[in-house]
Amino acid sequence: MTFFAYHAGELYAEQVPLSRVAQQVGTPAYVYSRAAIENQWRALDDAFGDYPHTICYAVKANSNIAILNLLARLGSGFDIVSEGELRRVLAAGGDPSKVVYSGVAKSVHELEFALKSNVRSINIESVAELHRLQAVAASLGVTASIAIRVNPDVDPETHPYISTGMEKAKFGVTMEAAFEAYKLAHTMPNIEVHGIACHIGSQITKTSPFTDALEIVLNMVKRLAQAGIQIQQLDLGGGLGINYQGETPPAADEYVQAMIAGVAAHGIDLPIAIEPGRYIAGNSGVMLTTVEYTKHNTSKNFAIVDAGMNDLMRPALYQAHHEIIPVRTDSSAEPVSYDVVGPVCESADVLGYERELALQSGDLLAVCSAGAYSFAMSNNYNSRTRPPEVMVDGDQIHVIRRRETFDQLIQGERQLPD
Ligand SMILES: *Cc1c(COP(=O)(O)O)cnc(C)c1O
Repeated sequence: MTFFAYHAGELYAEQVPLSRVAQQVGTPAYVYSRAAIENQWRALDDAFGDYPHTICYAVKANSNIAILNLLARLGSGFDIVSEGELRRVLAAGGDPSKVVYSGVAKSVHELEFALKSNVRSINIESVAELHRLQAVAASLGVTASIAIRVNPDVDPETHPYISTGMEKAKFGVTMEAAFEAYKLAHTMPNIEVHGIACHIGSQITKTSPFTDALEIVLNMVKRLAQAGIQIQQLDLGGGLGINYQGETPPAADEYVQAMIAGVAAHGIDLPIAIEPGRYIAGNSGVMLTTVEYTKHNTSKNFAIVDAGMNDLMRPALYQAHHEIIPVRTDSSAEPVSYDVVGPVCESADVLGYERELALQSGDLLAVCSAGAYSFAMSNNYNSRTRPPEVMVDGDQIHVIRRRETFDQLIQGERQLPD
């Protein structure tokens, strides 16, 4: 988290002290660093060098339109999983010809919208979806450019809830079924086979699951070529992990070079798309929260903060670890082992267990690595309004999403007539 660092005992985002952000927008609040986001994107882009490639940022990791717009300005493509995400990309000035559309349950309406928007590839996740897409494309009188998302049945060695490329997962088409599906697609009048896609999971911290999956994908490309079906793009998915708690995932360069080398070793010469989400956004943001109370039971100390599992669900959902650090290091309080807990009426509402912190009521904490799957997964449980999002750029603070208001919270609700 190099763009979040202490200066004179105070935590900064770039050149802005986080206490100033808290003063301006209150807490809880999400704070992102523009430089961090751009740096991560460029690390992947640079790693490809002259090799033909598209970086399709996985919108679901953090879909704020300011972030999508910054990435679009760099020339990024996007990986989407819904019509809403495609609408966000278009609203942010993204180029639909660099959009790949994943997702297991695309509706007729979503497929129509994607075809009308001219996305690069609809990544098919089942034979049933292929039939639906053929019908939708025929009804619009257009040709749909597709990839089949194959399930290579490799273990990404990550949390089961973020493993997607094993046979028991709902995602993708098994290798044997994929070959038949490609042959079927090839005969469909309104389908054009463009690519092959695979995404095996998230927060992957080794290169081998990626290269194992790549081998399986490349063998399929060759088998398809023998059957007269020419693949034009390899979409190798996202999943590159980040450091939450001392993990040592491969660097961008190592990961990209492994992919390029694997492709070259098969004598295959095809453009590569990747779909990174977490790698770009994860360590580019923190969530700021204020200690409301401390509470000391016989066996436990609690730091009760103003952010809860509705604001940051990952610890409750995946037992995920986020570092929690003080915004100022000059506390006069004694360091104590705290469970950092939120206001939500659930025992799972814990942001971190047994964290050694020197705290008192009113202190500001930063929950680290909160740029991806954090605000994006937030919700209104307990009628809590969602926090604002702030983008720091140098010494500037930009509010890129205002704090939700109570009126917004109930705007779609109606009482019965008298
Ligand atoms: C979630 C997802 C991604 C992004 O995964 P990260 O681990 O955030 O890089 C990419 N592709 C697909 C199909 C996904 O579902």
